[in-house]
Amino acid sequence: MPNYFDIGVNFTDPMFHGEYHGRQVHNSDIEDVVLRAKTFNVRRLLLTGSSLDESRRTLEIAASYPEYAFTTVGCHPCTVGEIPSVDEKVYLDELKELALAGKRSGLVKAFGEIGLDYDRLHYTDAETQRLYFKKQLDIAVEVGLPLFLHMRAANEDFISIIKPYLSKLPKGGVVHSFTGTAEELQKLLLLGFYIGVNGCSLKTEENLEVVKQIPLDKLIVETDAPWCEIKRTHAGYQYLTKYPNAAYPKIITNQTSSVNLKAQSVSSGMQMDPLLPFPLIKKEHYSKYDPAHEALVGEFASPLIKGRNEPVHIGQVVEIVSKIKGESVETIAEHAYKNSLKLFEVPEEEDVIDRYFTY
Ligand SMILES: [Zn+2]
Repeated sequence: MPNYFDIGVNFTDPMFHGEYHGRQVHNSDIEDVVLRAKTFNVRRLLLTGSSLDESRRTLEIAASYPEYAFTTVGCHPCTVGEIPSVDEKVYLDELKELALAGKRSGLVKAFGEIGLDYDRLHYTDAETQRLYFKKQLDIAVEVGLPLFLHMRAANEDFISIIKPYLSKLPKGGVVHSFTGTAEELQKLLLLGFYIGVNGCSLKTEENLEVVKQIPLDKLIVETDAPWCEIKRTHAGYQYLTKYPNAAYPKIITNQTSSVNLKAQSVSSGMQMDPLLPFPLIKKEHYSKYDPAHEALVGEFASPLIKGRNEPVHIGQVVEIVSKIKGESVETIAEHAYKNSLKLFEVPEEEDVIDRYFTY
């Protein structure tokens, strides 16, 4: 069974708490999301902190999954626009204190996400982004954690800002959710960064050509859930195969209650995901799911929600990368897993997953 480490999980996103476009549609189902991930051997999660407040909340969530979920602390380029409206010094000091305390407790494994995003200037203008990218790099030097970096359509500025800091940031970092060109990839590799690949990195044929060039010793995979799911229309989708396969080996469980639940399930009209062994429902139909259905896989398992990405999908990223690079799923998964453990200095314990099943 391949080992997975999803380094990009946004559990503070309202979708994981049942809220869509400001409307409460269902209860938080993070427990089920984590169970699905563990079922397919997603052995570690790195939860993303995107602002001071989100970093605090994501730390609380990670604390309920000890040795399983870790976090980053930082302020995303699209969110740094909130800093000038409050007391800048207080905000940045608190961010630093949170990162330092989290580092001591072992929960915070990276500083970020920080960086530049020129695709979404409507959230924060470029000048403000550059200002707080620098100020947060100053903090990162003091904190001494690896970096979790975000870069969109800003490669030149990104490199010219971060380059002078690199000698003071010996732990390096990952440029996550990479969607740049082959030339940009080479420049980032020269600086020693790992490259994080998710569904957004696999959308077009050009994307696939670039991902193909990421060396195995610099490759990291992630979902960026609930975002960046792999859609049917994406170039990478053609490489996906149905469960069971090398990325999702067959699960054998000893479930006995399925017979009793059959009648209820049929009446609820659950449809299965086209690729994975879980039901797939629209968020509005979540209430039709009976939480008494405790199966890990199959039609009685808790459902995936249409349009919402989650950590269990990381095997699909690995499957696509394996096909385009012409390497086995095991090879891709193992390199990405080991690279992630190494970068974030996460110990490799034998097993942090309770097994209710065999492969
Ligand atoms: Zn990002």
